[in-house]
Amino acid sequence: MFAVDHAATALLVKRAYPSVPLTPVLVSVQAMELAWVGLNYAGIERTATESTVRSVADIHLAYMPYSHSVATAVAAAVMAWLIVEKGLGRAALGRAVGIGVVSHLLLDLATHARDIALAPGWPTPKLGLGLYAAAPLVAFVVEFLYGVFCWYVDRGGSALLAVICLGNLANLSFLSPAIPGPESYLAGRPTLVVTVVFVQIVVTLILVGSFSRRRDG
Ligand SMILES: [Zn+2]
Repeated sequence: MFAVDHAATALLVKRAYPSVPLTPVLVSVQAMELAWVGLNYAGIERTATESTVRSVADIHLAYMPYSHSVATAVAAAVMAWLIVEKGLGRAALGRAVGIGVVSHLLLDLATHARDIALAPGWPTPKLGLGLYAAAPLVAFVVEFLYGVFCWYVDRGGSALLAVICLGNLANLSFLSPAIPGPESYLAGRPTLVVTVVFVQIVVTLILVGSFSRRRDG
C-alpha cells in the first residue's frame, strides 16, 4: 500500500482510541516502512528494479525479511504494546501503537506481490495477494476508496480530503504501465527508490497529521 493510505490508517486507529496522541500512532503505521528505509540504506535489505520501470511491478522488494515479515511485524507490535502498556502504564496508547504496526503488515499483504516472508531465515513461502501486479487499476481504486474512508471516519475537512485524493492520484502512473510517469527514472537506481519512498512517508505523515481533525493539541 502507498504511503498516503498507510498514513491515513492512523486516523482509524485514532478514532478507536480517541484519548491517545496522534503522532505516535502516525509513526507506528509506518514503522515497518521506516525500518525498510533504514535497512536498505544500511545494505542489509535489498531492492532491485527491471532495466525499465513502467510501474511498481517492475520494482522488486528483493530482500526485506526483517522489516517486512509476518513474525517481525507481529513481534514488534507485541513488544511495543508490552513496553507502552505494561512498562509505561499507558494502556490505550500501547494498544493503539500495536494495532498501528500490525495494520501496515495487513495492508501490505493485501496489495504486494508475493514478497513478504513468514520470518527471517524462511525464504519460502512468501505472502502477498499480488493486487499491484494482477489488477493495478483495481488496486488504485481500492486504495483511493480506502483513503477516503479513513478521511470519512476522521470527519476530516476538505484539506485532509485533498491530501488523501492528491496523494493517491500521484500514484496512478506508478500503478499503470500504460501511464508514463516519473517512475521511469527509478530504473537501475534502487537507492533512489528508497529515498522516494522515504520522502513520501515523511511528507504524507506530516500532511495527514497536520490536517486531521484529531491532531494533537
Ligand atoms: Zn510496507
